[in-house]
Amino acid sequence: MNIVIFGPPGAGKGTQSNFIVKKYKLHQLSTGELLRNEIRNKTDLGKKISSLMNSGKLVSDQVVSNLIEKFISDNKYNNRLIFDGYPRNKLQANNLKDLLKKYDQEIDLVLKLSISLDAIKKRITGRSVCSICGKIYNKFFNPAPVNSECCASKFLQKRSDDTLDIAVTRYQTYEKNIAPVIDFYKQTNLLRVVNGERSIVEISKEISDLIEGIKG
Ligand code: AMP
Repeated sequence: MNIVIFGPPGAGKGTQSNFIVKKYKLHQLSTGELLRNEIRNKTDLGKKISSLMNSGKLVSDQVVSNLIEKFISDNKYNNRLIFDGYPRNKLQANNLKDLLKKYDQEIDLVLKLSISLDAIKKRITGRSVCSICGKIYNKFFNPAPVNSECCASKFLQKRSDDTLDIAVTRYQTYEKNIAPVIDFYKQTNLLRVVNGERSIVEISKEISDLIEGIKG
């Protein structure tokens, strides 16, 4: 089973992907995280893309396509991928279809998390990520546990693009590019829209039901 999850920044893609990964033993492929790794590791690519990412714009389609092909072509992840943050425009949607076909795979479910810009602003400014385990927290809705060794406050980091200004640009970039992707997946009948403004547990429950639906 391969799943695509998309939605604006702060919609909860990462949190829900973590949940799906654990419950259904899939592998999360977050293009944002792969790109941030390049920046953290100060690779040539990382140096090229850092200012682009920190201004909330998209990295080139070819760069992202190369990164994801490494996973799609790897037998270890065969039919076990959840694409988080990819595709983000129509060309990427076509690329993904072609790449999966090349390795004899397909998409089974597309989840769109919907959420308003007002809710996003609060989510993004409150968000932090544990640098040890990658768990995502929010100081308003889902604070890190107080006595946890792993997710202690000294390990919680804010993403450099999680500021209000950049969040608005990222939202606008998302909105500008995503309509054709939505149409693309509507036509394949794989698209399911999930209200992303509810609690994490409620959203996870709906996503589970949708996944069970395609499994059964
Ligand atoms: P995310 O972690 O999904 O919010 O992505 C963070 C940033 O990474 C975005 O604002 C883009 O600059 C870049 N990025 C992530 N995924 C893609 C993609 N599929 N295509 C182009 N740029 C991307």
